[in-house]
Formats: sequence, structure tokens, C-alpha cells
Amino acid sequence: MTRDIVMAARPKARIVLIGTGGTIAGHGASSINTSAYDCSVLRIDDILADLPVAASIADIRTEQLFQFGSENFGNAQLLQLGKRISSLLKRDNVDGIVVTHGTDTIDETAYFLHLTLKSTKPVVVVGAMRPPSALSSDGPLNLYHAIVVAASQVAHSKGTLVVANDEIHTARDVVKTNTFKQDAFRSPYGPLGFIVEGKPIFYRLPARRHTTESEWSIDEIDEVPEVGIIYAHGGMNDAMVRAMLDSGVKAVIYAATGNGNVATSIVDSLVDARLRGIHVVRGSRTGGGVVIRNAAQPDDRYDWLVTDDQVPHKARILMMLALTGENCARKLQNAFLNY
Ligand code: GLU
Repeated sequence: MTRDIVMAARPKARIVLIGTGGTIAGHGASSINTSAYDCSVLRIDDILADLPVAASIADIRTEQLFQFGSENFGNAQLLQLGKRISSLLKRDNVDGIVVTHGTDTIDETAYFLHLTLKSTKPVVVVGAMRPPSALSSDGPLNLYHAIVVAASQVAHSKGTLVVANDEIHTARDVVKTNTFKQDAFRSPYGPLGFIVEGKPIFYRLPARRHTTESEWSIDEIDEVPEVGIIYAHGGMNDAMVRAMLDSGVKAVIYAATGNGNVATSIVDSLVDARLRGIHVVRGSRTGGGVVIRNAAQPDDRYDWLVTDDQVPHKARILMMLALTGENCARKLQNAFLNY
């Protein structure tokens, strides 16, 4: 008696691969240039042509949407990318999406998609820390893994994912934490899973609302308000804080020291900002932990908000989206507690 499970061959998944530039599309003068190279020079078709093994797992169509380093992503580009992916996901002949992206802001873009796409189909954002021209480039394997995940049934309904260094991260948690090492991506509670020998394996699920459970839809958002980040440090300069507050922002994320501490010298400016209609969100520059409401500062009294555990640059993404809805502090605070 045999215990082998005989499975019917499944047709190959149909994946759209969207190129936007980054190191994964970079090229260096020599193979030892792992960190200094021209970014965003290879077209997505050329990147895919160098990965013939990908054709064995998916039927892949390519689109070159942008060609720049991800530090150049503005709100308009986030909206354009999101709307393009949304329209592709509505097609019956598209089973999943892979976006190649610079790693610098990959966590911001992925989080934006995670909160605004209305689909259970897999969307995977992938980059590389070394260009394909470098020794031991992580680009080809990261891209192969991203296609594997996007083509997989088990990746459905998990929101937008970031794949790097054999790991599958939820866009909600992942942060770039290193300037040059391949092991640059961390989620504070660990990745959702791994890709082992070409197979995605999940060990846990995102607990917070996303995609189909999110209150925001990319199809209904045509612009997002400006939200700034103030990075706290010793010797805070009130004039600089005021310059930010006078710049037209609708909210500021205050990347505070420690557990959301605000220097006495700038409290008045931030209280005044709220009176002028600008929301103040206390976060932390530490990169980990929860900022506790009404602990270091009286948030109820000042009508300020806290980021919960979200890092400042991703709190900015969430706040921009939250501000497209009802401009009420309780609702905005709930966004940080629910997403
Ligand atoms: N300028 C690059 C970017 O697009 C560098 C980082 C990378 O892609 O790894 O973010």
C-alpha cells in the first residue's frame, strides 16, 4: 500500500511582475561592488530574462511602471502603483502580483498597499541589497522566492507581503534595518514564514486589519494629505519644529525619544499645532515597543495621538490614509490600534 498523495497538476499561476527600479535593477562596475553601483538601470524584462527558472512556476507578464530608486517615491507614485495593482487584481486572468522595488522605502510602499488593496490575491513586494552584477547578489533568489509566494495558494488573504533573505514578512511589521547587509529586514514579532527549497511555509498570520478588512480602498482615494515627521534629539530647536508645523502639514508624527517623551521646550509649539488643526502623533525613534497613551504626556488633555507600536515612517502612511476619512481624534487614534 502506498501512502503517497497523488495531486492533480494545477495550472501555472498567472503573475504580473511590475518593475519600479531599485538595487534589484542595479548594475555595478565590477562584481565586488556590492554596495556602490548604478541603481535602477535594468528593465524588468531583462531581470526576468536572467531568471529562466521562474517560468517553471508561473506564467509571467511584465510591466515597467517606474524606473527609480525608492527614495523618490512620493504620494502620487504610491497612488499610481496602488491603482494599477488594483485594476490588475480585478482581472480573472491575474492570480497574483510581484512588485520589484528599491529596498529603502519598500516597507512604506508595501504597508500602503496592505492598507488599501481590496483583494485576497497575493501581492508581494521584493527588492535586493546587492545588484545582480555583484558577487552573491540576493536579487535573483529574492525575485524567485517572491514569484513562488505570489503563485502560491497559501499566500492568499494574508495582505501584502515583503519577501527577502528566505523570509516572508507582513507589510504591517517589516522595517529595513541595515544599510548594506543582505539580512536587512526585520519584523518585531518575526517573519510570517520562510521559503524553504522553493516552498513557502507560513507559521503565523497578521493579526491586524488589512486589505479586504481595511476601511480604505485605493479605488476611492485620489489624494492623501501631507504628514510630516519630526525626529527628536537632544537640544531640540523650537524654530525648526515650527518650520515643519508651518509647512502645510495636516499632521506630524513626532518620532520622540524613548516612550514618546517630548522636550519641555517644544511642548507649547505642539499644543499650539493641535489648536491650529494639525494632529500631533507621538511615536518613538527607538524602533521597538509601544508608546503608551497619557503616560509621558497628557494626550487626552492636548488631543494628541500615539502610534501604538508603529515606526514613525510607517505611522506616516497610516496617518495619511486615516486623514482621508473622518477628521476626529478618537477615530484617528483607533486607526493606530486596529491596523
Ligand atoms: N536607491 C535604492 C532604493 O531604491 C537603494 C536601496 C536598494 O534598492 O536596495 O531604495
